Amino acid sequence: MITYEFLTTQKIEEALNYLDKFNKVHILAGGTDLLVNLYKESPRLPDFDYLLDVSNIPELKFITLTNGFIEIGPLVTHSRLIDEPLIKNNFPVLTIAAYTIGSTQIRNRGTIGGNIVNASPAADLLSPLIALRAEVELTSRKGKRVLLLEEFLAGPYKTKIKANELLTKIKVPLLGDNYYTDFQKIGRRKALSIARLSLALITKIDKEGIFLDTRVAPGSATPYPQSLPVTEEAINGKSIFDIDLEEIGKITSNEMVSVTGERWSTPYKKPTIAVLVKRALKKNIEEAKTNE
Ligand SMILES: Cc1cc2nc3c(=O)[nH]c(=O)nc-3n(C[C@H](O)[C@H](O)[C@H](O)COP(=O)(O)OP(=O)(O)OC[C@H]3O[C@@H](n4cnc5c(N)ncnc54)[C@H](O)[C@@H]3O)c2cc1C
Repeated sequence: MITYEFLTTQKIEEALNYLDKFNKVHILAGGTDLLVNLYKESPRLPDFDYLLDVSNIPELKFITLTNGFIEIGPLVTHSRLIDEPLIKNNFPVLTIAAYTIGSTQIRNRGTIGGNIVNASPAADLLSPLIALRAEVELTSRKGKRVLLLEEFLAGPYKTKIKANELLTKIKVPLLGDNYYTDFQKIGRRKALSIARLSLALITKIDKEGIFLDTRVAPGSATPYPQSLPVTEEAINGKSIFDIDLEEIGKITSNEMVSVTGERWSTPYKKPTIAVLVKRALKKNIEEAKTNE
């Protein structure tokens, strides 16, 4: 049985003091990942003596528009992301992804910060946030540092967070005009389903119908979510009127396998990721043509 002391606070400052003062503190937010791991005594859980409940810190529950970024507090729940007009109007890809997470109960408790720091290969917010070029702010008693989310992720269920740090902010740069986004997810069933495969696609389509600044990030496809630069470059410069979607699908499949190598799931995932990238491109092309 795992035993620990329970700490709680309503202030960031006090949380940072606890992280500084005690060794082996593990942070608790909504608990939807952590409590499952505790109950199962998962080997993924690090050894810890203290559980620090940060879920009652009001300063970590904000969504604000500041200097070209939407800044999101780590305690913002998936339900709040779905309901928030600032997110819906600027990053519909994040709204759709949040909506596919778990059930209403899970979305009411689970947080964006927990989804990021748990760093599951199947975490639904990671691929859209990577495609959005989101940054994470980490705070300790010694100060703050900001990392690109893609660089913060260090492996399956691994990040670069240090033992004395708290994730205090997620910063998402605003997209300019003429950007189109989509999130595709396939699970074993329609509801309460962990992604077998997912894909976030963001692209700019200019007045002539040319793809620019394309970002493609799949989930559950690679050991941990990451961009697919070869696919992105293959799409950039193509026209929405004659892009060869079959060719792009093949490039995406091959790029995924170049990262993962051949695995037991490759016969399923290799053709399926091609379907997801084609679906996302088709949706964006249709939207761009409607806006002409
Ligand atoms: C039934 C069920 C269905 C689910 N379905 C999905 C799904 O479809 N898609 C999906 O992506 N996920 C799913 N999940 C997983 C989970 O709900 C999400 O990952 C959720 O966002 C985790 O957030 P949390 O606040 O509950 O994190 P917690 O469980 O509280 O914490 C998770 C990890 O993050 C760390 N942490 C949390 N906040 C901070 C912080 N501010 N600073 C530093 N470290 C922090 C914790 O120490 C812990 O290691 C599901 C879970 C369950 C139980």
